[in-house]
Amino acid sequence: MKLLEGKVAIITGASRGIGSGIAKVFAQHGANVAFTYSSSAESALALENELTALGIKAKGYKSNAADFNEAQKLVDDVMADFGNVDVLINNAGITKDNLLMRMSEEDFDKVIEINLKSVFNMTKAVQKIMLKNRKGSIVNMSSVVGVKGNAGQANYAASKAGMIGFTKSVALELGSRNIRCNAIAPGFIETEMTAKLNDDVVQGWRDSIPLKRGGTPEDVANACLFFASDMSAYVSGQVLNVCGGMLT
Ligand code: NAP
Repeated sequence: MKLLEGKVAIITGASRGIGSGIAKVFAQHGANVAFTYSSSAESALALENELTALGIKAKGYKSNAADFNEAQKLVDDVMADFGNVDVLINNAGITKDNLLMRMSEEDFDKVIEINLKSVFNMTKAVQKIMLKNRKGSIVNMSSVVGVKGNAGQANYAASKAGMIGFTKSVALELGSRNIRCNAIAPGFIETEMTAKLNDDVVQGWRDSIPLKRGGTPEDVANACLFFASDMSAYVSGQVLNVCGGMLT
């Protein structure tokens, strides 16, 4: 059964990693996919072709989610190209890890802008469309780090915890218009973001996870599919940990 037949989804940061996995699963379920990237034009084009081959409409847009005006322009462009927006996945994110003692003001601001302000920008931009439609699903990609904190990631943890507060507030504000907003908190998902870590650290993570493996982009994409589809029609304001049992 195709769960997103005919729906239009915007996914930020889908040129690789988790976002790319979400785009593929959504396309397999019949969604038309508008996705963004920051600089990976080549992989964005490759993804666009891969998705289109599945028989749906797909287009990649170079757009900085941290920029308020660019986010608005992106949504205007998607409306012109696709005619509607049913689902927004706020997935774009970065890390700039350091102990607080060594963390620069610039690295704090950058992580907050790209991870958290982007969610405000994009949600504001799709809000009017979803209000008019009297339906919509917004999914924010937080992290277990936003739920429980992590030494060396104060900026990232603050941005991801902020996303959870934003998610719950939007769910309360827009629920009466049938607009749902949920967050996913992935644990250790093996992507380019985690490939920066050294092998021992990665193995240590795997060993500490009850399911004894890192997650895949598809593991997270399947949770997104649930939130994006009508399968979760009565679920809003929730945080789902997709972490192999790391958080209980
Ligand atoms: P990734 O492999 O580093 O991919 C990040 C994606 O975001 C890329 O497509 C990148 O585009 C895009 N991006 C970066 N800055 C952007 C901006 N300003 N505007 C628009 N797009 C931007 O990351 P990932 O591991 O897939 O993570 C995806 C999300 O899941 C992030 O929010 C991350 O915090 C969260 N998460 C990841 C893990 C994990 O273990 N991997 C765990 C918990 C949460 P370019 O390719 O053009 O740079």
